[in-house]
Amino acid sequence: MLQDTLPDSLAARLTDEQRQAVIEAPRGMRLAALVATLKVDENTALSLAAASAGLDVALNLETDPGARGLFPARLIHDFQIIPILFGPQVPPEEQQPPAPTTPLHFASAWLPDASMADWLKTFTPRPLVWHLAVPERVHQLIIENFGVGSGALEDSDEGYVAPEAIRDAEAEVDEEAAVVRFVTDVISQAVDDQATDIHFEPQEGQLRIRYRVDGLLVPVSVPENLLRFQDAIISRVKIMARLNISERRLPQDGRINFKAAGRILDIRVSTIPTIYAESISLRLLNKKEAYTMDRLGMSAEEQNQIKQVLDYPHGIILVTGPTGSGKSTSLNAFLRQINSTDLRIITIEDPIEYEVPGVNQMQVHTEIGLTFASALRHVLRQDPDVIMVGEIRDRETADIAIRASLTGHLVFSTLHTNDAPGAITRLVDMGIEPFLVASAIELVIAQRLVRRLCPECNRSQPVTKVRLLESLAILGCNPAEAETITHLQGPVGCDRCRGTGYRGRIGLFEIFRLNEEMHSLVLKRESTRTLALTAREHGMRTLGQSGWEKVKAGYTTLDEVLRVITIAEQ
Ligand SMILES: [Zn+2]
Repeated sequence: MLQDTLPDSLAARLTDEQRQAVIEAPRGMRLAALVATLKVDENTALSLAAASAGLDVALNLETDPGARGLFPARLIHDFQIIPILFGPQVPPEEQQPPAPTTPLHFASAWLPDASMADWLKTFTPRPLVWHLAVPERVHQLIIENFGVGSGALEDSDEGYVAPEAIRDAEAEVDEEAAVVRFVTDVISQAVDDQATDIHFEPQEGQLRIRYRVDGLLVPVSVPENLLRFQDAIISRVKIMARLNISERRLPQDGRINFKAAGRILDIRVSTIPTIYAESISLRLLNKKEAYTMDRLGMSAEEQNQIKQVLDYPHGIILVTGPTGSGKSTSLNAFLRQINSTDLRIITIEDPIEYEVPGVNQMQVHTEIGLTFASALRHVLRQDPDVIMVGEIRDRETADIAIRASLTGHLVFSTLHTNDAPGAITRLVDMGIEPFLVASAIELVIAQRLVRRLCPECNRSQPVTKVRLLESLAILGCNPAEAETITHLQGPVGCDRCRGTGYRGRIGLFEIFRLNEEMHSLVLKRESTRTLALTAREHGMRTLGQSGWEKVKAGYTTLDEVLRVITIAEQ
């Protein structure tokens, strides 16, 4: 039996109800329950819990490679514990196989109880030493060492019988149920990691799984025996997405409504046939998430420039950038900014990424002829004040959007161009008359997303003058700034950011207003380059300069800014 009591000193701080709330949570969630109950931060709760049981809190966890094969993955998952290295280490060349008397250190997401020790003792004679640790980090290390969902896919239980409570819940665990649980684990883990995409990629001799987190692909550790379950896993995802599982030669699209932690996620699923098996991509949409201009990392000055135009009764506001640069997130923040009961707002999107209360949101269905252009034509008959069109891809959509703005509507949309002035030339290249472009477009914002430094662990680090000068040249900034700067904030890595040094993302923005002089340049069909140079003379801050501001302010790093800006230059 799992123990269901709390140490006295901890129990004394809680009412019966609160005790119950903590005890009834799964082991990995108990600290979070304590945080919520006591209304303290996680560090405080961790210290309190540890002190109540006479344990210490282990930081900067490193797993003990020697202990890896000792215990079944399921046991590690159920208990949310991981063997760690602790204290001074013996250099590798002097290492001996551990004696039966060598202590085995465990980091645990919650206070250990006697029954856990009993279970572990059936696998090792070594004495156990317990430490408490940040639950999120313990969980992450379990995933890294045993693979995501490895608790579900174990080949055999190797003598391990699940504790009663857990066994009851899982009566009759057959292979099918294991695969169902595995796929759920993979998706839940992606949600925890704030991934935007999950890719199942069949390769020669392995099924690779990768998440996209903060814009970058992250390989996911998977159980060693995963390949054996590949077909069952692919079928399971297809069933969840209501796809035809016998059709393996044609690409298919579908969606899953996934419930996780009380929220319902909309997941877009797409399959394509590859040489080894079908490759499946899942796009995770968290529709209820509310983005504001603040949260996007817009400075007060940037917000002011944009807000002025958001109050206009008509005109077009465009956001540009490559896929994944957060364009629709920005448009969503603008909608929230102006959303009020006296405005009728209609959006045309593909897909609908976020829901905005009070706004009429419409999904494009190209397969039945409901394209951006046809939807837009219909929306205009619906007496809107503000229209958001997900993307301007073709001449027809561009034509209608411009007509809409000239007939008294405010129109938001996006375009795939690298910089802000490029949007103007793109529209002219599509065949729109320059005078229409000049009179309709009010504002173009180019944007990129960079990873934000982890606020817990970032540290001032020295930077060489050579590197600064190189970087400033690429970013189009004043080289004189290299003279006074010797240090910049850099990533370190801690238990809060999974050792990456980064947490979340912020935007870089280039805001391009079309003033009188710009109008005359547009009418003369001047090049993007000329438009950009003139805009800079009028004080437009480029993406590179916006990035440099954010590096100086300690929000991100030169590496991050150069990564997104260099891609833009290619
Ligand atoms: Zn950190």
